Amino acid sequence: MTPNYLPFINPATGERFGQVLMATPDETRAAVSEMRQASRDWGQRPVAERVRVLRQLQAVLIDSRDEISSTITQDTGKPRQDALIEIFVTVDMLNDDCNNAARWLRRERVSSGLYLFKRVYVEPRPYGVVGIISPWNYPVALCLPPMLAALVAGNTVVLKPSEVTAATGVLIERLIQRVPELRPFVRVVHGDGAIGAALVSAPPDYIFLTGSTATGKKVMRAAAEHVTPLTCELGGKDAMLVLDDADLAAAAAWGAWGAHFNAGQTCMAVERVYVQEPVYEAFVAEAVAATEALKLGYSLGTDASNQVGPITFPHQMEVIEAHMADALAKGARVLAGGQRHGSFYEPTVLVDVTHDMLVMKEETFGPIMPIMRAADEAEAIRLANDSPFGLSASVWSRDLERAGRVAQQLQAGSVIVNDTIAHFGVPQSPFGGMKESGFGRTHGKAGVLQFTQSYGYAVGAPPQPLDVATILRQPGHYRLGSAILRLAFGVTPRQRLEPVVEELNRRTQGGELAWLGLGLGAAGLLAAVAFAFGPRRARHR
Ligand code: NAD
Repeated sequence: MTPNYLPFINPATGERFGQVLMATPDETRAAVSEMRQASRDWGQRPVAERVRVLRQLQAVLIDSRDEISSTITQDTGKPRQDALIEIFVTVDMLNDDCNNAARWLRRERVSSGLYLFKRVYVEPRPYGVVGIISPWNYPVALCLPPMLAALVAGNTVVLKPSEVTAATGVLIERLIQRVPELRPFVRVVHGDGAIGAALVSAPPDYIFLTGSTATGKKVMRAAAEHVTPLTCELGGKDAMLVLDDADLAAAAAWGAWGAHFNAGQTCMAVERVYVQEPVYEAFVAEAVAATEALKLGYSLGTDASNQVGPITFPHQMEVIEAHMADALAKGARVLAGGQRHGSFYEPTVLVDVTHDMLVMKEETFGPIMPIMRAADEAEAIRLANDSPFGLSASVWSRDLERAGRVAQQLQAGSVIVNDTIAHFGVPQSPFGGMKESGFGRTHGKAGVLQFTQSYGYAVGAPPQPLDVATILRQPGHYRLGSAILRLAFGVTPRQRLEPVVEELNRRTQGGELAWLGLGLGAAGLLAAVAFAFGPRRARHR
């Protein structure tokens, strides 16, 4: 078989600046089994020890920042400063994981309920080996944070970076090599979707996919074959709502930034804007001015003034052009931009758009800002929710309470008020989708704990006579069990008192059931203790 190479292509210049040999499906499966072996060592180390090793990578990332940003820029075409944002977000998240992992991952003692003679613990345990599959739009910020969260949680990792930004994938592999103590616990497999599919069916013990909804559906089907659990961070069509009391200058400036940042190739880019009627005209004028002020171009310089780079993945340009052609054919008007220049597309403002147009229905993933009128707040909310996607959203209003009320009604995994995109970078703010934008949450505590499964551990001496487990198991205890059930879990006072009344009635009818009286006494005691030490009072060990 002839070896396959992934070329490194600079999308801004078309220059080929390197290549990497693709992994084969066999090598991918071998990487998973090697990492499964290694997970026994890594997963058993104390959290503090794993953090010590990961701090070394943190230092390497900081020292290598210029090399990383330069590679990202050549690989994607984005400005160096935008590449630095990826490193910033990654290091911030790693630092936060390292600061908190020991607390998030510690074993906790929980209430043992009526099982008074047992102690019960819950422990987050790593899955084993996690397969991470990543896209090209943020080739560092979408590869490293999930990988590092999986590692801090005690898993080993097989990473498959995007074939579109293979140079960054190779650099990530080199960065890991620079930490000899981490090297045995991560493998990077370079390749296209077929290698991603080989990784999924290897299978690893957990899959973390960031990619399109179409790929998410394929990966879910393949993961079902081995019942492999997974997180899917998929596409978006984020809405921005501008209410009639918004700071229009800020909304237009940061809304345009959110639509055009990274040339719109952001899962949570502003892809639809709904503006309340009274401020529509003024907002559009400001958004056009903010969009026209953005400088299109490419530079490897760290202080260059260009803000919007090329379309990184050539296929994406076809999608952008198809959405624009469809919108224009259905009556939309271009107020800014609208032209392609080779691999670049001008930051664009579209008006007179409707929900019949692709640009309002499907993910465009380009620098297009379609703006639509909304008669009132309720219509803005209805239009924002009229989408199969539900990744993120933004709301603009000077009245933070009103903005909060609107935010609560949006079908999105996260919402930001009076800004766009920024919440992705907050380490402890969970990020992920609703509806066809996927499921699972990344970042912070949820992002680390998703790579663990709750292990329950119950310990104590063999069952005692007064142990509820013993009472319920021994024959002849139906009436006692029924009494305990109501005394301990009765919802109304009547339910709780019923067994006592029944017992008194029995006694007055002459039945000398002393044992039941005793049993009820014990049950009452158990119930009282269980109530006192119930789950609300679960203690940490
Ligand atoms: P993509 O779905 O084409 O590819 C993503 C990754 O999946 C790549 O590494 C690819 O090789 C791999 N892949 C493709 N087919 C596969 C298969 N059958 N089995 C396993 N792996 C397979 O997406 P893309 O074009 O690289 O990235 C853009 C998409 O990612 C957009 O839809 C964007 O919204 C989404 N995205 C989502 C988030 C998020 O956090 N929700 C973040 C960034 C990007």
